Amino acid sequence: MIGLAMALAFGTQEPKQDAFLYDAWAAWNSFGVGARVEHEAESVSGRTVVVRTIEKKTEELVTIRVARKVRVEDKDVEQSELEHVSKPRPGDPPPSEKCMSCGKVHPKDVKESRQKVRVDKQEIDCALLESTVLDCAGKKIGKLRRWYSRDVPGWMVKMETTVDDLRTTTVCLRFTKK
Ligand SMILES: [Zn+2]
Repeated sequence: MIGLAMALAFGTQEPKQDAFLYDAWAAWNSFGVGARVEHEAESVSGRTVVVRTIEKKTEELVTIRVARKVRVEDKDVEQSELEHVSKPRPGDPPPSEKCMSCGKVHPKDVKESRQKVRVDKQEIDCALLESTVLDCAGKKIGKLRRWYSRDVPGWMVKMETTVDDLRTTTVCLRFTKK
């Protein structure tokens, strides 16, 4: 009986009521070395395949190998670099989304729902966050849709940005948990 109750409790562990908050540390640190996720990004400038693999973990730092394959004319050009995600320290501000241009956090009107996304023959139940993209002056310039799942290394399953009528779509092709 106790075993069953625990299994049920764990089965419904994910909070459904709370707003989904992306947390880079948890998104990577909850997986082990060798966990891997592959995304394909498509935009007007072409198609890029990005593979992220957890290479090393310490108490404070997750090191991720990021390999990018870009199709330039008829050739695949591959580049690889390391990305680091560090553990938040006590007193650090909560995870936020700072603007790359001005460093401020622009107000966002986020609508949240659930949606299933198909990844490599699996249906992944995702939190879908839809928001408006504002420029630094607060003017509406586009739309952002993000699909997240805590089952996928790095949590990002799909992302769609439409800014000035240009659409960029990033989708997860496959992933391996460790
Ligand atoms: Zn800004």
